Amino acid sequence: MSEAKLKKTATNRLLAQHPFCCFCGGETVATTREHYPPKALFDNSHRPDQLVAPACNPCNDVSRNADLVTAIVARWRFSELEETEAADIKKLIQRLRYQAPNIGREWLEMSSGTGQKRARRHLQNNGVPVSFESGYVSVGQETIPQLNLFSHKIALAMYFDATKTPLPLSGVVFAQFSTKEDVIANGIPDEVKAHLGAPQSLKQGQWDTRLHFEFRTALSDDHNVFQVFARLRYGLFVHGTIVVHPELSPDIDWNGWLHPNELPSILLDPRFHGR
Ligand SMILES: [Zn+2]
Repeated sequence: MSEAKLKKTATNRLLAQHPFCCFCGGETVATTREHYPPKALFDNSHRPDQLVAPACNPCNDVSRNADLVTAIVARWRFSELEETEAADIKKLIQRLRYQAPNIGREWLEMSSGTGQKRARRHLQNNGVPVSFESGYVSVGQETIPQLNLFSHKIALAMYFDATKTPLPLSGVVFAQFSTKEDVIANGIPDEVKAHLGAPQSLKQGQWDTRLHFEFRTALSDDHNVFQVFARLRYGLFVHGTIVVHPELSPDIDWNGWLHPNELPSILLDPRFHGR
């Protein structure tokens, strides 16, 4: 069978079991099978065929830039890039220049002499030792909303994977990303270590993506609260929480939490443009 045919068969099989998009409230018919995290995060855009979610076209398209930005930022590391990483990053940046030139410009500005010095001083003032050659993450307001969108979307994808149910419209999601500098400065949050299960990865036979993607999850006994903490390569971490029935906790301030169909607003809402 040709690769295109295989892909179509796999999509049809998933959509037959899970006909609704898991990213916008579970009421829109899904038309595609979306790999989340996307293939671009992995070496040569190649990853085991797991963590695959039913998506409608708008939900698939909304994170085009977010997926690309995340795949690049996650490759920024303190030590020198490996050969495959360097080749991947070159290709991804070429795509970014064409697809989202504003973000490419922001990175150029932030990596200029003064931007770099300012960022390095900031890190050192916060107790993070930075070597001179470091490829540290310094992100601005073009990049931050993209990373925020990615973080919310992966939380929904992981929730779907854990429960095989899309989060309903009435549910809410809260997600934040951390850079490797944040994690060095603050460590992995205690609540993650205390409550989340052992690290998992995508595996297929001998192939284990642990180096480039690892995650821990927890689902409460009543299935009301889901948490995920994921490491994307060495550059980026995401901590997401999902609450299925926020109405059961009227005392909690749900400001900043989003219903699943509100994800596209992240790119427009100033609350998601700063850290
Ligand atoms: Zn959707």
